[in-house]
Amino acid sequence: MSKRKNNLTAKRWDNQLKIKSNKHICLSFYELIIESKNMAPIAVPGQFCMVSVPNTYLRRPLSIYKTTKTTVSFLYKIIGKGTEILSTMRPGETVKVLGPLGTGYPINQKSVVGEPILVAGGTGIASVHFLASKLKKKGILFYGARTKKELLCLSEFKKIGWKVFVATEDGSKGFKGYVTDLLKQNITKNNIVYTCGPTLMMKKVISIVKELNLKGYASLEEKMACGIGNCQGCAVKVGDEYKMVCKDGPVFSMSENLNV
Ligand SMILES: Cc1cc2nc3c(=O)[nH]c(=O)nc-3n(C[C@H](O)[C@H](O)[C@H](O)COP(=O)(O)OP(=O)(O)OC[C@H]3O[C@@H](n4cnc5c(N)ncnc54)[C@H](O)[C@@H]3O)c2cc1C
Repeated sequence: MSKRKNNLTAKRWDNQLKIKSNKHICLSFYELIIESKNMAPIAVPGQFCMVSVPNTYLRRPLSIYKTTKTTVSFLYKIIGKGTEILSTMRPGETVKVLGPLGTGYPINQKSVVGEPILVAGGTGIASVHFLASKLKKKGILFYGARTKKELLCLSEFKKIGWKVFVATEDGSKGFKGYVTDLLKQNITKNNIVYTCGPTLMMKKVISIVKELNLKGYASLEEKMACGIGNCQGCAVKVGDEYKMVCKDGPVFSMSENLNV
């Protein structure tokens, strides 16, 4: 049985929370740590929060990256106005955070005999990192970026027992090319695959997984306004029906015929 949470019955909080730190990591990447003793113990890998930003209308969805007993962290990249303003917020200030939201990755399935494989691109590394820290069985992370400077937290994965295979488009580290080509060369018939990253990358991962008839889960990203299924802005076609990335996902089984 999968351990995914039923979103309708799951507990969630909507509070003004104190920023513990908001550190620049490298390039346009930041780590935001907020204090939430309610959210931290119940958050599971794959879930996200809707984070409000001063002087903007809609909240921004961010995956949960790490938790401690009393804090929740997010790893984010400056993309536009919202994340730019977020990056200027300082410890002691507060942000309104709704979460944890969505379904998590199914983890620690007894039926899986082979190594788990994680495939991440860009800030998809955030949700995959939380997953890696919770999976009992360690496996391989396949991580792709344009250049080596954009590869984040490699040593953290190694520290918790994961093998790390990297691909960079400019060849500055690891395999030169797309992470999906590296995956294709190394995947075996016993693997279970979890992925989060750019849509094009996930499309290719899904096709590799299907070709080999493996089990796989993808965490989708769609623009969303509410995060709880009311606005229906994040609808995606799954088989013959539409599902909401925010409440039916963001994690979907690759066997569900995802139209990404
Ligand atoms: C479930 C989920 C988890 C995510 N996790 C992360 C994460 O861990 N780290 C991270 O850096 N980014 C993550 N994103 C993407 C992040 O939400 C966007 O980069 C961010 O909303 C951009 O806001 P902005 O105001 O800076 O950009 P703008 O482009 O100015 O945003 C304008 C509007 O579009 C929305 N928007 C823009 N891009 C996206 C997008 N890709 N997805 C959803 N809404 C978008 C914003 O919410 C905002 O309302 C996630 C998205 C989803 C759906």
